Amino acid sequence: MAPNECISALGGWEGFEVCEWRQERRGIQSWCVLRLRRERTAAAYCSGCWREAPAIHDVEWRTVRDLPLFEHAVELEVPRLRVACAHCGPRLELLPWLQPYARVTCRLAESVSRLCAVIAIRQVAAYFGLNWKTVKEIDKRTLERRLGPVDLQGVTVIGMDEFAIQRGHRYATVVIEPARKRVLSVGRGRSREELRPFFTLLGPQRCAALQAVVMDMNSAYELEVRLHAPKPRSSTTSSTSWPSTPARSSIEYAWMRRTACAQTGALGIW
Ligand SMILES: [Zn+2]
Repeated sequence: MAPNECISALGGWEGFEVCEWRQERRGIQSWCVLRLRRERTAAAYCSGCWREAPAIHDVEWRTVRDLPLFEHAVELEVPRLRVACAHCGPRLELLPWLQPYARVTCRLAESVSRLCAVIAIRQVAAYFGLNWKTVKEIDKRTLERRLGPVDLQGVTVIGMDEFAIQRGHRYATVVIEPARKRVLSVGRGRSREELRPFFTLLGPQRCAALQAVVMDMNSAYELEVRLHAPKPRSSTTSSTSWPSTPARSSIEYAWMRRTACAQTGALGIW
């Protein structure tokens, strides 16, 4: 088997094959650059309606990252088609291994999101040599798919507290439902303004149904609670009385980040 055929078979870029490859060094990193071409027999499908397209509208070359090959970072040069779809007009070709407009392959995105579950975004970015924002967007899209919108039905008791992202510099506010041990919202900062989107999301009816709010001696929290939910009978307490709430371990922080990304759009705070 010729080297290009071998790499094509191992790479598994459906509908494409390797026509050229080269190795180059960029700084201390060795790169394997693979140039792909479409297989002659491959049909093109529309990413809008998934129908086979009768014609090609135009072609643009894209640079896409894939999983590393041994110690070499891998970069693909891909001819990205826009098909002339009879139903949707010009649309990017549907590829099972590359999302429209993505700069990384689906399998690299999957690896990135799995690693984001256990370590910080900046560490994932450094490990794969990707831009921090790219990793964040991959993580965010994955979490949106997995978590979906938060269910606020039946919430009658909430707890809120601040926690430090950079102690003395940046803080965030987390709102939880102690009974079900769920994070409901995470927002930047610890002011009234940061808490307000949660109450807006909760809505007047569910605010009126709140029976108790557990929080520490933060007057900003209390004022905002009184504004939206005057009914709760409680309750300021010390922040040390949170045994049933999520432990402040790195795992819980990671979970909060995920919830923040998916539910509140509070991006970039970690
Ligand atoms: Zn279409």
